Amino acid sequence: MTDDCIFCKVAAGELPSEIIQEDEHTLAFMDINPWTRGHALVIPRAHSRNLYEVDDADLAHASAAAKRLAVTMRDRLGCAGVNLLNCCEPAAWQTVFHTHIHVIPRYDDDPLRLPVGPRPAASDELARVAADLRGN
Ligand code: AMP
Ligand code: ZN
Repeated sequence: MTDDCIFCKVAAGELPSEIIQEDEHTLAFMDINPWTRGHALVIPRAHSRNLYEVDDADLAHASAAAKRLAVTMRDRLGCAGVNLLNCCEPAAWQTVFHTHIHVIPRYDDDPLRLPVGPRPAASDELARVAADLRGN
């Protein structure tokens, strides 16, 4: 528990939330600003800032919980698909600094659109960035 973390407070029952599923390691609850009907968040109960710092086992538990929730959304909300989203640091849209996975049900007529227009990479760029990532 970190005193100034709102998701630690949700996990401790100190802030109101609509909890959907929980287990020893994780909690899932409704996002208060949903992108679509049913948009929820899965968190590890243990505090970590984000993906860079989360314990591997906590991340595995949260991933499995996100999968269970996706299946529940398909079966109970009748969504046509699901997006998982994780934001790590403000440059990647993170606003709450307790690791969480967005589980976003998608519907054929929902308003969400990709915020970018992916295009084929320029020649050699994939090889260059792959070399950077490999460290050679
Ligand atoms: P992110 O921008 O990836 O850090 O996502 C944080 C999410 O938490 C946003 O979608 C917010 O709408 C959501 N959020 C913030 N406070 C609460 C809260 N008290 N209960 C539920 N969701 C929240
Ligand atoms: Zn926290």
